[in-house]
Amino acid sequence: MSRFLNSKFNSLDPYDTSEELESMNGYVRLNTNESPFEPSVNVVKAARSAAGTLNFYPDPDCTKLREKLSALMNVKPSEIVFGNGSDEILNILFMAFCEHDAAFPDITYSFYKILAGFHGVDFVTVPLDENFKINPDDYKSLNGRTIFIANPNAPTGIFLSLDDVEKIINQNPDGLTVIDEAYIDFGGESAKKLIHEHKNLIVVRTFSKSRSMAGARLGWCMTNEEIAKDINNIKNTFTPYNINAMTQAAGLAAVEDEEITQKNVTMIKRVRDNTASRLREMGFEVLDSSANFLFVRHKSVSGEKIFEALKRCRIMIRHFTKPEKISEFNRITIGTAEQMQILLEVLKRVIKK
Ligand code: PMP
Repeated sequence: MSRFLNSKFNSLDPYDTSEELESMNGYVRLNTNESPFEPSVNVVKAARSAAGTLNFYPDPDCTKLREKLSALMNVKPSEIVFGNGSDEILNILFMAFCEHDAAFPDITYSFYKILAGFHGVDFVTVPLDENFKINPDDYKSLNGRTIFIANPNAPTGIFLSLDDVEKIINQNPDGLTVIDEAYIDFGGESAKKLIHEHKNLIVVRTFSKSRSMAGARLGWCMTNEEIAKDINNIKNTFTPYNINAMTQAAGLAAVEDEEITQKNVTMIKRVRDNTASRLREMGFEVLDSSANFLFVRHKSVSGEKIFEALKRCRIMIRHFTKPEKISEFNRITIGTAEQMQILLEVLKRVIKK
């Protein structure tokens, strides 16, 4: 730390990217829940063509993309805010709305805790039940906090029904509920249809997973106009041009190529369910996944041993050492059918040893 760093950042706890960096060196990457499919031809073409306009600042309102996406999502253009990845949206939400503390499950997307620390927001973590599920009753006493729920949850992949989501929102009339739907296209039902009924709901989405655009950094949220305006004002205060021109063009083409997205999603779901069955036959416990990954533990081989053995074979999955109750689990991103075949063959050998 240099002597010039603002003292309020003395105890920063940034997201650890070392394993992601390592996995870029020739590994089969099953560790970051990316899509194994390249963006469509039209998406690549659109990004290329927008590269020729890089002398200009991009549209700060993402007007064309906003119009197309709002039609696809069946919400008004003014009910959408775009972010440089949904991580930026989450960052703005912590900044904007967490004056009175936050709450989220003890096992969920690790960024919520990191952002709470960064913004000095007090938070409580609510334990998942013994089946790794969110129980809405456990959020009853948290009225007034900003509640973050990833749905489907990560890293479990388990989907919380919309009735239960609504229960959490209704129990929290004085606070916002944020439903982070990064993986919703792979299973479950979106809470976006609730944004008009509930004035304290924000639904966060991303182009990183089902739309094969993790590298472009494009996320968005849907909420009522009043809250959208607040978020937009904060965005325009520190990063008015947060979505670059190539990403806007690529995003627009991706929305126009919805059929391709749906085809890829169908394929990933098929490979996911097939992989889950094969893993269960091999003695793995596999949580019911509505996402593009599986959360698994083996009845006799430790999570760490499996992770290390795969790594030696240049396959990177995600192992969590903390908290203790998930330390035997690994999270495996669904890749192509061929990649899953390789994974299963290596796993067979690891388990036999
Ligand atoms: N929410 C969840 C639950 C995630 O798992 C991720 C990424 N892994 C994100 C949000 C952020 O995605 P992005 O910034 O790529 O949109």
